[in-house]
Amino acid sequence: MAISRAECVALDASDPLRHLRDEFVLPDGTIYLVGNSLGAPPKTAVAAVTRTVEQEWGGRLVGGWNASGWYDLPLTTGDRIAPLIGVGPGQVAVGESTSVAIVKAVSAALGLRPGRRVIVSDLDNFPTDRYVVEGLVRALGGYEIRDVSGPGGLAGALGDDVACVLMSEVDYRTGARNDTAAVTGMVQAAGALMVWDLCHSAGAFQVDMSAADFAVGCTYKYLNAGPGAPAYIYVHPRHQAEAEHILTGWHGHAAPFAFEPGFRPAEGIRRFTVSTPHVLSFAPLNASLDIWERVDLTALRAKSVALTSLFVELVEEFCASYDLALVSPRDPERRGSQVSFRHPDGYPVIRALIDRGVHGDFRAPDVLRFGFAPLYIGYADVHDAAVALAEVLREEHWRDERYQRRLAVT
Ligand SMILES: *Cc1c(COP(=O)(O)O)cnc(C)c1O
Repeated sequence: MAISRAECVALDASDPLRHLRDEFVLPDGTIYLVGNSLGAPPKTAVAAVTRTVEQEWGGRLVGGWNASGWYDLPLTTGDRIAPLIGVGPGQVAVGESTSVAIVKAVSAALGLRPGRRVIVSDLDNFPTDRYVVEGLVRALGGYEIRDVSGPGGLAGALGDDVACVLMSEVDYRTGARNDTAAVTGMVQAAGALMVWDLCHSAGAFQVDMSAADFAVGCTYKYLNAGPGAPAYIYVHPRHQAEAEHILTGWHGHAAPFAFEPGFRPAEGIRRFTVSTPHVLSFAPLNASLDIWERVDLTALRAKSVALTSLFVELVEEFCASYDLALVSPRDPERRGSQVSFRHPDGYPVIRALIDRGVHGDFRAPDVLRFGFAPLYIGYADVHDAAVALAEVLREEHWRDERYQRRLAVT
C-alpha cells in the first residue's frame, strides 16, 4: 500500500526545508511542478527590482554603474553562484543566455586545442546546445560535429582529433543524471576539454565542476531568477590566461574605457563577459541567491530524492492500469530532481492536468515532465499531483477537444 496523504502531511511538518516555501510566490491552488523550466519568484524579487529602478537607476542615474556596482555585477554575482557548482571565486561570469555561453565556452575550448577539429555533442543535449555549435562550426570552417548517444557512446568517439565534448549533467527530457567526474576524466584523458551544461543540475543538487574545463547554465530554472534571467559560464582557472572566445565585446576588454581600436582580452574570468549587463535581470537573481546562501545542499538533495521517489511510487500505483511508462532512471542516484513519464497522448494529458491545478510540462514526442523544486514543493503536493494525474487518466479528461491543439510554448 502506498503512503497516505496524512503521512505526507506529517513528512512536510518535519521537513527541514519547509520554511523556505514561504519565501516564494505561488498562486493558491497550484501545484507547481515546472520549477525545472521556470522557477517560482522569491517574494523579495519585487522589492529587489523596485530598489534597482527607484534607488539605483532613479537615484544615481548613470552613476549606478560605479556607485551601485552594476559594472561588476557579472563577476560579483558569479562568485555567488560558484558554491552551488562546487567552484571558487573568480571562476564564474554571469551574462547573456545559456546558448550564448555555449558559444563562448566551445569557441574557447577550440582555441585551446589547435589542430583538433572535432566537437563531440550528445544527441540527448537540449537542442539549442547543438544548434549553436552548428552555427559555430559553419562560421569558423574546418570543424565538424561528432554526435554521440550519452556517455556510453563516448569511448568510441574520443580520439586525438577531438577538441571538446559538450554534454548535460542532467538530461532535460528524462531527468537522467550523468557521472560528471567519470566523464570529465575520460574526456581529459583523451586530451580533449569538457564543457558541461548545468541547466537542470545547479539548484537541484550540489554540483561539482572543480575538475571540469568549462560549464554553462541558466538561472531561471531551479535557481528561480525569473524569465530571461542571465546565464553563467565557469572557466577552470588553469585555462583563464589562455582561453579566448569569439564574442570579443568591450566588457571583456582589458581596458574597456580606454576605447582602444583593437581587442585585448581582460585578465581572468572578466574576459568571458561580453557587453552591458542586463542590470534589471540581476536584481531577482541576487534576491534568489540570498535564499540559496541559506540552503543546506545536502538536505536539498535528500528531499529531492525523497520527492521524486515518492512520485514514481505513487504514480505507478495509482496509474497502473493506464498507458504510462517511466522514462526517468528508477535509481534515484541516477536522477536529477525531475521525473518523466511517457504517454501516447502526453500533450492533452498535461493540459488537462494543468486545468486541475497541477502544472507539469510536455516535451515532444510523448514525454510528460514533472520537476520537483525542493525549496517549495512538499510531500503532500506530490500526493495530490499523483491523485490528479490518476483522475485525468481514469476519467479521460484529456480527450476534451480544447486540450488537443498545441500552444506555442509547451
Ligand atoms: C533551458 C536550457 C537551455 C536554454 O537555453 P537559453 O539560451 O537560456 O534559451 C539550454 N540548455 C539546456 C540543457 C536547458 O535545459
